[in-house]
Formats: sequence, structure tokens, C-alpha cells
Amino acid sequence: MKGLCILGATGSIGVNTLDVVARHPDRFQVVALTGNCRTETLLKQCLKHRPAYAVMVDARAASELRRQLKAEGLTTEVLAGAEALVEVAKLPEVDYVMAAIVGAAGLLPTLAAARAGKRILLANKEALVISGPLFMDAVRASGAELLPIDSEHNAIFQCLPPGFRAGIAPPAVRRILLTASGGPFLTTPLEDLAKVTPEQAIAHPKWEMGKKISVDSATMMNKGLEVIEASLLFAVPPERIEVVIHPQSVIHSLVDYQDGSVLAQLGNPDMRIPIAYGLAWPERIDSGADALDLFEVARLDFQPPDFKRFPCLRLAFEAARAGGTAPALLNAANEVAVAAFLERKIPFTGIAGLIEHTLNAIPAAAAKDLEAVLAADTSARRFAAAQLAAFEEKR
Ligand code: NAD
Ligand code: MG
Repeated sequence: MKGLCILGATGSIGVNTLDVVARHPDRFQVVALTGNCRTETLLKQCLKHRPAYAVMVDARAASELRRQLKAEGLTTEVLAGAEALVEVAKLPEVDYVMAAIVGAAGLLPTLAAARAGKRILLANKEALVISGPLFMDAVRASGAELLPIDSEHNAIFQCLPPGFRAGIAPPAVRRILLTASGGPFLTTPLEDLAKVTPEQAIAHPKWEMGKKISVDSATMMNKGLEVIEASLLFAVPPERIEVVIHPQSVIHSLVDYQDGSVLAQLGNPDMRIPIAYGLAWPERIDSGADALDLFEVARLDFQPPDFKRFPCLRLAFEAARAGGTAPALLNAANEVAVAAFLERKIPFTGIAGLIEHTLNAIPAAAAKDLEAVLAADTSARRFAAAQLAAFEEKR
């Protein structure tokens, strides 16, 4: 029996994780579930999975959840605040931590799980992107197992020889080929991009996901963050990572070996597949996903990304090459820009502009410790927010 903590249980990845877990009551015991501010979903999850702990970051929501759980006769202990996320991530009865909070908010609890030597199932790519080598050092020092849940990285992980350890370069790999669907605007005329709405941007053609990652997929910043994620997880420089647009989203990524062999992982676009693989590795268990029907898929298309259409992808490659605090600056500016777009404060095409402006204004420094990384995150958020305020005033 493995004790499981799900950080971000109420989101898309959290819900899919509980779906897989419910199929295997003999293997996993849910120890802790966390959410941000809405109690309804977490309450239902607690009633079904009966965790020892539940965390709501928002204090008022935590009191509400405490009251409701008590009324239902549950003994689940409800904790409040961002510090409680860190506490539950390192509990001794927790073996596996699913890191599924969105954005930089997941950094400290995910890092705590790394320091505590847990098996980390990493969906929260932003946590790794921001802290980079510091995070990988924490994993190495504690002997934690860092397993990728992001479908592309999970596919690569499945295509690597046995004995995978995150941060150690696998032998004889020439290139990593990261596939991307291209999102909803792959063929939209460039002049129409400025007018696209949040509703259009979050309507992803292949995957059902949270809003932030859906917008990131539409700008291809998601693929940019994934390039940085892959370079850390698999210890390959960004020059040896190639982005391949593959609109069917059936091949989830590929490894190109020195002998000319290319290994790929295929499957329906269903996050329960990588989640089940991370939970059971090195075994395989039922995930609930449908079998792939190749006759229905019929064809697989590939094309190179257009950096003019997707300037966020260019910015992410530049940040990957620059290293240091550049990825943290990129991520923070992107989080501010995506939130502003979702609130209709800037146009879709303003996302890349705001990020580029922030990166030009704040020089990257060495990411020598966590403080340096957090300072970069804060300064990029401040700068981007000030730019937004000035933009609003002009409007
Ligand atoms: P989501 O928006 O559906 O869920 C986010 C979760 O984080 C929720 O449980 C929410 O309560 C919690 N949360 C939000 N803000 C918080 C805060 N400030 N403090 C604590 N908790 C907070 O997002 P998602 O689609 O499930 O994505 C989660 C992560 O997984 C992201 O990093 C995303 O990039 C990554 N990911 C998601 C998918 C997918 O299919 N959804 C695929 C690959 C990677
Ligand atoms: Mg992905």
C-alpha cells in the first residue's frame, strides 16, 4: 500500500489521478488532498477517498470544509494556508506526491516533497522550470524519485532504457523530439490572432485541461516550458530538443537514438495513461483509458513550428539557453500575462509582448539559491503588473 498526497486534487490532473486511484484500492491509500479555495469538489473527494488530511489554502474555505466534514462524521483533519501544503507533502505516511498545483504556487510544496525523498509525480512543470538545477540538486541529495506526468515527458520516460533517474543523461540519445498539437490557432490567419477570445483560446482541440495550461497551449508557451522541463529531466541541452507539431496528438513524444532508431509512445490523449504509469512504475496498471484504434486515427501528420506565429516558443528557447533565473522570469511574466488575457485586460497577442518586454527589462542572474529564484519571480511579476496598469490607463 502506498500513501498518496495529491497537491491540487481539485484540478484536472487531480481529478484524473483520483479516477486511476479508485480503480486500485489495494495499491494506494489517499493520505492528503489539497485545493485552493473552492470546497465543493474537495468535500466530495474527501467523502469518497477518506484522507487523513485535507488542505484548503483559503482560510475561510478551510473552516467551511471543516464544518461540512464534521457534519458528515469524517475524521479528516482540515488544515489551512500555503504552509499546510508543505506540511502534507512531507508527511512520513506519504510515499508518493502528485504535484498538480498550477503555476509557481506549487514550487514550495513540490520542493518539500523532493527534499523529503518522496516519489514525485510531476505535472506542475512550472515548479521545475522556475527552480531548475536547485530542484534537481534536492532530488539527487535526498534520493527522491522524480517521475514526469506531463504526457510528452512521460512518453520519453517510457522510451528510455530501464534504470531511469531524472537529471542523469540517458546513454546514446541523439535528440528528444517533443510533440505538440499546435493548439486551437495552428491555422488561424495571423491577422485574426489579436481578436481571439479567452473562450476560443481554452477550447483545446485534443485535451481537456485547466484554463492556464490551455492558454499556454494556444500560445505554445506550454511547449516552451516543456522544452525547459525536458532539458532538466533528461539532462539534454535545448539544442538537442526539437519541437514537432503533430495535430492528432497520438504520438506523445519520441527519442532519437545515435544508431538511427527512433522510439515513440502512442496512445489516446488521456492523462490517465501517464498518471497510471507514474503511479505504478515500473509496473503497468489499468488506467481506464480506451485502447488506441489506429484505423480510426488513420494518419499522423508532422510539421515544424512557426516561431512567428508562436513567439512564446522562441522566448522560452531563449530562456532555456540563457539559464540562471531566465526561466523563472519567463514563467512569472507568463503567469501574469495569461491571467490578464483571461480577464480580458490584454489581447491574445499581448501575452508574448508583455513577456518579452519583461525579459528585456530584467536581466537574468545566477540561480544560486532559492532566494535568488523567488526574487526573480517577484520582480518579474511586479514589472509585468506595472506594465499592465500603464496599459489599462492608456485604454
Ligand atoms: P487546474 O487549474 O485544473 O487545477 C489546478 C489545481 O491547483 C487546483 O486543484 C487548484 O485548487 C490548485 N491551485 C490553484 N492555485 C493554487 C494556489 N495558489 N495554491 C494552491 N493550490 C492552487 O490545472 P491542471 O490542468 O490540473 O494543471 C495542473 C498542473 O499540471 C499545471 O502545472 C499544468 O501545466 C500541468 N499539466 C496539466 C495537464 C492537463 O491535462 N490538465 C497536462 C500536463 C501538465
Ligand atoms: Mg504536456
